[in-house]
Amino acid sequence: MNSQKIFEVATDIIPGGVNSPVRAFGAVGGTPQFIDRAQGAYLWDADNRRYIDYVGSWGPMILGHGDPKVLLALQAQLGKGISFGAPTELEVELAELLCQKLPYLEMVRLVNSGTEAVMSAIRAARGFTGRAKIIKFAGCYHGHSDGLLVAAGSGAATLGVPNSAGVTPAQVADTVVANFNDIDGTRQLIQDLNTDLAAVIVEPLAGNMGLVEPQSGFLEMLREETQKRGAVLIFDEVMSGFRVSAGGYQKTCGITPDLVTLGKIIGGGLPVGAYGGRKEIMQQVAPSGPVYQAGTLSGNPLAVTAGLTTLNQLDEALYQRLESLGQRLETGLRQILEEKQIPAQLHRVGSMWTLFFSATPITDYATAAQSDTARFGKYFHAMLERGIYLPPSQFESAFISTAHTEEDIDQTINAAKEALSDM
Ligand code: PMP
Repeated sequence: MNSQKIFEVATDIIPGGVNSPVRAFGAVGGTPQFIDRAQGAYLWDADNRRYIDYVGSWGPMILGHGDPKVLLALQAQLGKGISFGAPTELEVELAELLCQKLPYLEMVRLVNSGTEAVMSAIRAARGFTGRAKIIKFAGCYHGHSDGLLVAAGSGAATLGVPNSAGVTPAQVADTVVANFNDIDGTRQLIQDLNTDLAAVIVEPLAGNMGLVEPQSGFLEMLREETQKRGAVLIFDEVMSGFRVSAGGYQKTCGITPDLVTLGKIIGGGLPVGAYGGRKEIMQQVAPSGPVYQAGTLSGNPLAVTAGLTTLNQLDEALYQRLESLGQRLETGLRQILEEKQIPAQLHRVGSMWTLFFSATPITDYATAAQSDTARFGKYFHAMLERGIYLPPSQFESAFISTAHTEEDIDQTINAAKEALSDM
């Protein structure tokens, strides 16, 4: 059991044995697999067991692992240099490509992670408006910067209370929590904050409480109310950007934010984040404006190369292929749930999906949190034993890549049939 042995060493010298908490299997129990290598839709662990991968490095690997074009481009770039700390044409190419794919982007800045993108977008929004308050939604995750680590509020919108040790009440005093899909409550909150409100930040397609779609009218209301009050609407598309369509979820929902944050797919598996949007806001960012934001490795040539080579392969046919694979998986899973009379909610948008173990519809964090997480843990391990690698928490989205085949999907459905019989 190599994974077990490595984990034992790791827990002594790395907090929890991992470099990002969900990887530790805390929500499902057991020892995490340490991954040795990956190719296409598959991962191999340190014990040489193969898994069909539905985590995809938490979203970036939309083309599957080891895409030949990405590897070739990276090899070519390696020969030219790894990091310069000076501007490169590659960064301009990536910025141009992003602006072309998301036509409402007038200016964009590259950073190294989703966390940085969001933290910087909020700073830019505050700098632009000269206001302090932000609204975020319970169950939406925007990275681990202090001001966004705020308790997923109870029923009513609440003033921010930190939900991480080390975050002070002062650091979250300007963060107000609302409920996803609560049209009337959020409208009231925006009206109450009025000209104190700098920004509303939302995952327009929520993926961090499990996959939850916005209800009709919710994003429209956010757009209308922020516009009326001169507040900045930020779509956090770190996860949804380029996952569900070539234009991000913005294209699907038809609502245009003032700023967007991106990550994951735009780095093709290497660390890239980005934030951008209206020129008048982005021009506030240093060195053209007074909002400071910087990064030693920002726009790193290797990372940008992986991102460019990934994004350049995302055409309509690719999203159709992902939709067809997603549809096949959904049909198979729904049949099993019905046959076995399992109380569950299967959410899917294109290649993103979550199976919630809950009898009641899920529209926000409060309803997602009612899911039977013990049952999810059993299902997760039963799938893992059958070679299917799912995100190790009920409150995550799973991802299909273009490297998955119909056979992989059918094998997954067969595994689910057995796994769900055991429960
Ligand atoms: N925003 C969203 C919507 C995310 O899903 C994530 C990461 N899952 C982040 C921000 C933070 O990104 P990172 O982990 O790259 O810092």
